[in-house]
Amino acid sequence: MLRMSRREVVIGAALAAALGLNSRIAIVGPAQAQLLPEPGKGFHKYKVGSVEVTALYDGIWKKPHDPAFIKNAGIEDTKAALAKAGMTTEYMPIPLTVVVLRVGDRLLMVDSGSGVGQWQPTATSLPDNMKAAGIDPARIGTILISHFHPDHIFGLMEKGTNAPVYPNAELVVSATEYKWWTEAGRVEKLPEGRKPLGTRIQTAFPTWKNFKLVDGEQEVAPGIHLVNAPGHTPGHSAFLLSSGNQQLMISNDTAYVPALLGPHPEWQGAYDQDGPLAVETRRKLIDRVIADKMAICGAHFPFPGTGSFAKDGTGYVFTPVSA
Ligand SMILES: [Zn+2]
Repeated sequence: MLRMSRREVVIGAALAAALGLNSRIAIVGPAQAQLLPEPGKGFHKYKVGSVEVTALYDGIWKKPHDPAFIKNAGIEDTKAALAKAGMTTEYMPIPLTVVVLRVGDRLLMVDSGSGVGQWQPTATSLPDNMKAAGIDPARIGTILISHFHPDHIFGLMEKGTNAPVYPNAELVVSATEYKWWTEAGRVEKLPEGRKPLGTRIQTAFPTWKNFKLVDGEQEVAPGIHLVNAPGHTPGHSAFLLSSGNQQLMISNDTAYVPALLGPHPEWQGAYDQDGPLAVETRRKLIDRVIADKMAICGAHFPFPGTGSFAKDGTGYVFTPVSA
């Protein structure tokens, strides 16, 4: 359990109110909040205006340290960044959280999780946590998709058959992302490690009838706009939720692991397809979140995956909320 002083609780409540988050959420310092990457409870609900947001924990990838993980930093640098954020340095902690939005009587989900037994053996909890949160997957009418990496789309496909898990939901994705992954000759051009992913996408998605491709930064559901956030992948997207006078930037993989990319937004991940563009997008998006005083959530942020950024020298400091 996290322990907080009374002073931190009081400050946290005020900050939570300023961010438009449920006042029962306390905001604690990064060092305290990120000590334990795995939550005791796998779902967490909060409000953004009249929209109910449910953060659902899928699990964590305890990635062994790899000198290639960040193109322009070494293992000692990434370990130092983790330590500074109060996180374990034994491995690279990459948790995965999916959000479900209740907008009026509509239920929307952002990305699909990694699918049971399809990504990491330690990231299989989404179905159980969805059930625990009282969400019926059959009632999810729209899935907003950020990009086509395994941890974000494998939950759309049944293991083995690739049959659609959500055949009746509208699958909203940037046209750029969809076309890039499905164009003729793409699999051959992918690096070796990505070829199975490309093959799986090309086998399944073009046979489905429920994709809705989006050009530009359109409103994709009431109060929700797609925000172009390229670099991680060509059509990687964030989604901006606005309700009343409150806003939440659903940033997906733009800031990836904020303990690393907050203080070092210039670091280029091996997973960022276009490193310099990913850096440019990251700075632009975080600057916007700070300027507009909005809350931000990310797929790989410490659970429940929401918090705020502030400027800190040439980088940023991320303050997570605590469930
Ligand atoms: Zn991801």
